[in-house]
Amino acid sequence: MNDVFSKPAPIDVARPGARRSRQARVKWGDRIVVIGGDAPVCVQSMTNTDTVDVIGTAIQVKELAIAGSELVRITVNTPEAALAVPHVREQLDRMGIDVPLVGDFHYNGHRLLTEFPDCAKALSKYRINPGNVGKGDKKDRQFAQMIEAALKYDKVVRIGVNWGSLDQDLMAALMDDNGRRAQPWSTQQVMYQALINSALESADLACELGMAPEQIILSCKVSGVQDLISVYRGLAQRCDYPLHLGLTEAGMGTKGTVASAAALAVLLQEGIGDTIRVSLTPQPGEARTQEVVVALEILQALGLRTFVPSVTACPGCGRTTSSVFQELAKQIDDYLRAQMPVWRVQYPGVETLRVAVMGCIVNGPGESKHADIGISLPGTGEAPAAPVFIDGEKALTLRGENIAQEFQQLVQDYIARRFGSTEAV
Ligand code: SF4
Repeated sequence: MNDVFSKPAPIDVARPGARRSRQARVKWGDRIVVIGGDAPVCVQSMTNTDTVDVIGTAIQVKELAIAGSELVRITVNTPEAALAVPHVREQLDRMGIDVPLVGDFHYNGHRLLTEFPDCAKALSKYRINPGNVGKGDKKDRQFAQMIEAALKYDKVVRIGVNWGSLDQDLMAALMDDNGRRAQPWSTQQVMYQALINSALESADLACELGMAPEQIILSCKVSGVQDLISVYRGLAQRCDYPLHLGLTEAGMGTKGTVASAAALAVLLQEGIGDTIRVSLTPQPGEARTQEVVVALEILQALGLRTFVPSVTACPGCGRTTSSVFQELAKQIDDYLRAQMPVWRVQYPGVETLRVAVMGCIVNGPGESKHADIGISLPGTGEAPAAPVFIDGEKALTLRGENIAQEFQQLVQDYIARRFGSTEAV
């Protein structure tokens, strides 16, 4: 027999790598979001409203924040948008939403941050794209103006390179250098270097201008999964700045979700990435908050953070010819998510709850016993009874038309009992 099977060795428990970056602190009022170091990977998102629409933008920022976004980026592209920013901030403060705002600048950020000081003050972080700060001799000057604003108002910056707007002069220079190599790199490899160099050279310049390294976050976004993995591995090797991680222009629906999860999971597992954004294109009618839901799910699936109770549900098969268990699984999942804004405060630790909703006797009782509370619904041909397991023990059996409502009540009671304060119980 093969030695591997005759003498099994214990299998290592998977653990995410621990890249130790510096730590940036993004602040608004008393709210401080720590990015990097040993802080948990934080989630951010971006609005798709016209920033000039103060109320519409504030409402969407609020929705994203309530969904779990710990920073929200807004577009600042015109003088009108820059004028609107402090009003968006005020509106949020009035609504009790203290999520820090990030300003997304391209082309004219140097002017907007200089000419609209209230905008510069209301933002907690500036995103600077080195490929879009200006051309030729204007580039360094305009970059410096943005850094001066960050220094003046004590803000963090993200130097955010994107391959769609990569500095073409830098790329051309690297291609020339590459042509002189005895064994030239591929164009793809030169492009990776150009992205990384653009970020690092800009960070060096920001430091020369007086920024502390702790005020700088870097990103090098591309839209291909393997490209993103390659670029971030390279970037992580060459610096200890906190890294903002995201697959740019990930796309819509399942494609965008899966591509983002595939890319981010590989890198996060290696300890690369201190804050993430999932760049989903919303499907018609889909809430903007979906990108936050996906980001939270990625971190929770990797065991890096816990945000919402998890519902384990089987996929169903020929043993489940009705949709009862699918409906119950969805109902419980929706219910748990809807309650979370209140429960987070009322029941500390509730996000660690594990619920199982299973379709038949094959794996139902076993999986339900592994959960904190689980139900095994009757499959086709089984007796119309649904045993409920609590803390690994069979607690009772539900029957009849109201199994869904009764199980939901059992979940609610379990949460109150286990996570409620002593006084509340
Ligand atoms: S638990 Fe039962 S219904 Fe669910 S997938 Fe397994 S065999 Fe099918």
